[in-house]
Amino acid sequence: MQREYTAEFRFYAQLNDFLAPKQRKRTIPYRFNGHPGIKDPIEVFGVPHTEVDLIIVNGQSVGFEYQLQAGDRIAVYPVFKNPDINPLCKLREKRLLCPRFILDVNLGKLAKRMRLLGFDSLYRNDYSDTDVVNIALSEQRIVLTRDRRLLYSKHINYGYWVRAVNVENQTDEVLHHFDLYDLIHPFIRCLICNGMLIPVVKTDIKDRLEPKTRLYYEVFHQCADCQQIYWEGSHMENIRQRFAIYLAMPK
Ligand SMILES: [Zn+2]
Repeated sequence: MQREYTAEFRFYAQLNDFLAPKQRKRTIPYRFNGHPGIKDPIEVFGVPHTEVDLIIVNGQSVGFEYQLQAGDRIAVYPVFKNPDINPLCKLREKRLLCPRFILDVNLGKLAKRMRLLGFDSLYRNDYSDTDVVNIALSEQRIVLTRDRRLLYSKHINYGYWVRAVNVENQTDEVLHHFDLYDLIHPFIRCLICNGMLIPVVKTDIKDRLEPKTRLYYEVFHQCADCQQIYWEGSHMENIRQRFAIYLAMPK
């Protein structure tokens, strides 16, 4: 019979969101045989590896390849926005400078919101989980999902489980988590297809405009991919006011 060993885990900050209530903010014993990789027990506790940025075992920073030993004391930390907090070895050293996202099928509204704020955000309501994983891998995109099981895929390097249910709170949550405030560029992307918007001369598109739009508006943009037309008018002004808190942009 194989001998059973015990190690102790403790999860910090928002990683507690994933744990069963009685496991939160306390030391949790973990029994095991042999030498499992440290990623396995972390995911057994319900924490996707994509949420983890730093693992300390007996005072030393380790990577996911670390194999659990009897008596190990393990502290698991989430991604910190301020890199100065932990100068030790981090699991994902290279923060994506210009983050690009792919959103699962439950996050259509958030996808539009992210596009509105200028973030490259792929979304289709017919993406399968496999599509999401494959595209994230091949294009180095961050997976945003409401289904934390998706983040257990070993092929996903960057991912985030969106906790909030309504789109306003989801937007706040993602901007805050990835510290995106300095990267907001509103009105550069098509809300429908994620394509880039380019300025277009009114005379080139006037046949496609409703009479009132043709009459009242002068400044137009068009999606380079799906040809959707956007104009600067009351609609954009509404959006600008609604998002003033994020935008802080010159009028
Ligand atoms: Zn488009």
